[in-house]
Amino acid sequence: MIVLDLEWNRGYDKKPLDEVLQIGAVKLEGLGSRIVDTFNAYIRPQVHQKLNPPARHLPELERILSSEQTFLEAEAAFLLWCGEDRSFAVWGGDDVDILRQNCGYWGLPPLQAEEVYDFQAAFSRKVGTGQSLALYRAVEYCGIPDVFTYHNALNDAMYTALVAPWLREEDLHLQKLPRSLRQLAEVSFPAQPVRTVGSFSGRETALNSREVRRQACPLCGAVCWVVRWYHREELYWYGGFHCAQHGWFFCRAAVSQRANGSWRVRTAVPPATLSFLREVHAAALTQVHLCKRTGRRKKRRRERGMPPGE
Ligand SMILES: [Zn+2]
Repeated sequence: MIVLDLEWNRGYDKKPLDEVLQIGAVKLEGLGSRIVDTFNAYIRPQVHQKLNPPARHLPELERILSSEQTFLEAEAAFLLWCGEDRSFAVWGGDDVDILRQNCGYWGLPPLQAEEVYDFQAAFSRKVGTGQSLALYRAVEYCGIPDVFTYHNALNDAMYTALVAPWLREEDLHLQKLPRSLRQLAEVSFPAQPVRTVGSFSGRETALNSREVRRQACPLCGAVCWVVRWYHREELYWYGGFHCAQHGWFFCRAAVSQRANGSWRVRTAVPPATLSFLREVHAAALTQVHLCKRTGRRKKRRRERGMPPGE
């Protein structure tokens, strides 16, 4: 895993480029492991004449302005240093995009990344702040002595790597899930009974049926409705339902055919473990079944107040 940090200058002139001034990176064997190598390149600006205020105040400005290295040379050296490793971590979302933007400006192929982990988002979520935590705050929080100057790309990459042991692999994967699923990971609720319903004449009929779609909030028991099912493999269907008070939950429905040809459904509301949430997410990306509402007109009217499926 490569922890990457950049310093750049947002130009005031007409050329739309956040010009990279420094590439700093450290290599980790894995999340929370020690730093095994470091990379640092100061890059002489060639595009913008003027520096914006943050760039003007960079602690290493002298070394940047007097550097012999161009972006082309620094990027080539950086890729060589990365080797086969294509899993990146950054503090905040911009750095990989800005590196790609600079590659594009100079006619280089964009940085290939298998994964880009945003440690800032994962860490901020972990410590329960709604905002994006500044790197120095995280360093403070972790009790890491801040002996290096900030806003030096190598030092910032180092600090980001030092914060990494506070994150688990799971936090990084959670970060990749949509918000409704991520939030669910923080909710714990008592084990829910598995329900078996059916017989139905077909799979569609089963998924559309009120008995199967009707769920109860695992915290308050309020009646909630599944309005769409997500599906990836033959057996399981996943449905979200929303309690006005407690938010989103997901159930898993196993739809199977009996020997006599009729269909039955077993629904469960499993605890929101990472693996369950990833199953739901994978299914949501694969296939969606919108429920056709069944039942009498009167009942249908009552359902109108239900929350949207997203
Ligand atoms: Zn509830």
